[in-house]
Amino acid sequence: MTRRYVIVGNGPAGVAAAEAIRRHDTAGEIRIVGGEDTGFYSRPGLAYLLTGAIPEESLFSRPASDHDLAGIHRTVGTVREIDPQRHRIVLFDGQAMSYDRLLLAVGARAVRPAVPGIDLDGVVTLDNLDDARRILRLARRAKRACVVGGGITAIELAEGLAANGVETHYLMRGDRYWGSVLDPYESALVEGRLAEEGIRIHRGVELAGVIGRKGRVAAVETRDGSTLACDILAVAIGTQPRLELAHLAGLQTGRGIWADATFQTTDRDIFAAGDAAEVLDPETGKRGIDSLWSAALDHGRAAGEQMCGVGRPYRRPAPFNVTRIGGVTTTLIGAVGTGARDVDLVTLGRGDSNAWREHADAFAVVSDGEANHLRLVLGPDRLVGAVVMGDQALSRPLQHLIRERVDIRWARDRLSRGPIEVRKALQALIERTVPLGAA
Ligand SMILES: Cc1cc2nc3c(=O)[nH]c(=O)nc-3n(C[C@H](O)[C@H](O)[C@H](O)COP(=O)(O)OP(=O)(O)OC[C@H]3O[C@@H](n4cnc5c(N)ncnc54)[C@H](O)[C@@H]3O)c2cc1C
Repeated sequence: MTRRYVIVGNGPAGVAAAEAIRRHDTAGEIRIVGGEDTGFYSRPGLAYLLTGAIPEESLFSRPASDHDLAGIHRTVGTVREIDPQRHRIVLFDGQAMSYDRLLLAVGARAVRPAVPGIDLDGVVTLDNLDDARRILRLARRAKRACVVGGGITAIELAEGLAANGVETHYLMRGDRYWGSVLDPYESALVEGRLAEEGIRIHRGVELAGVIGRKGRVAAVETRDGSTLACDILAVAIGTQPRLELAHLAGLQTGRGIWADATFQTTDRDIFAAGDAAEVLDPETGKRGIDSLWSAALDHGRAAGEQMCGVGRPYRRPAPFNVTRIGGVTTTLIGAVGTGARDVDLVTLGRGDSNAWREHADAFAVVSDGEANHLRLVLGPDRLVGAVVMGDQALSRPLQHLIRERVDIRWARDRLSRGPIEVRKALQALIERTVPLGAA
């Protein structure tokens, strides 16, 4: 009998799942339902679209015809209902689809702070291409913008607005940028770059409300009672997995939709993957959430295989992200958290992982570079995390060392000898343990 697969969400998790299913089930009927009427595009690329570094066409890495050729049916629409008993979903336009296996790959949405005026016109978040287009439209007429929040998206919004000639003020509740993930030197490096780009940073400032005029943002008010006039308020205080459909289907949820290591939810025919899923790692017994492009692809691929009844239980790899923060190319791998609390991000941000906050039995060593900065987090017998800023030559071999849990005991003393020795010791470790293809 032909199996019917329905996938809700056409982001990387949904698309990777559809492709994996087709590889393992050439006869199955595959449908993807997605709320956006665009083709498959890169969400991390939206930051580059905002600064004008790339045109919109560059976001689209593969033509829709690829899926037509693979016999994957696409429907643009929003699912409003799941009936697990009848194995059926219903869209807002009334269309119904039956499934044997259903995947929820619905992603996450930006959270807004609960302050008066937050729904005024001109308050923006950055979840998708429509949001980026709206921000660019608003920036054309705006003189001044305020950005609140933290993590990667706050910086992307600030840089995007500044690049469009808008006087940009970044209001931080805390005293330094992304303190839970970056160390003080790294935060200062990013803040220095932002200042060079003309972005004005205000520390220790908390948003109390948004003041409107004729339904539009006119100013922000801060907790100390002062106001700052602006035409745009951009918000990036974190994200929340979309749980509505899971709740309608009676699935168990925590921060995300609960899934086991086979991506199965508490209903055996419904699976969850990507930003929306809180996946159990059998090794640690803990559930994790990532908001990472690479993790969404991995999840989607693995969930698709499980939906076909093949594949092995998922082992969560050390999360990694290669991104630009304040113009500095930065790779974050594994457990890099500083243990500090970040008051600017109230939940997980985009391009972020809760694994980065985990503290292993480890300590950090930092190289003495200026713009090219390196921080290694050393566990008793392996590297558990790394931050590479600037020159990226070490990024790939470090990914290998951390993800493959390479034993470093023989090099550990040298690695921990201090800033001057660390790069040389790491180079020796790489030459001895990293295969050429991974270096
Ligand atoms: C601005 C920005 C910058 C980012 N930067 C980075 C970065 O530097 N590095 C990195 O690794 N990651 C980054 N990310 C995160 C990365 O893009 C996400 O982790 C990834 O897209 C998650 O994939 P997903 O398939 O789970 O969900 P999504 O890509 O969010 O896709 C979910 C899809 O489901 C659809 N959907 C939701 N509900 C329904 C419904 N009821 N019916 C039908 N369709 C529905 C949505 O419309 C959406 O198209 C960034 C994201 C953004 C927005």
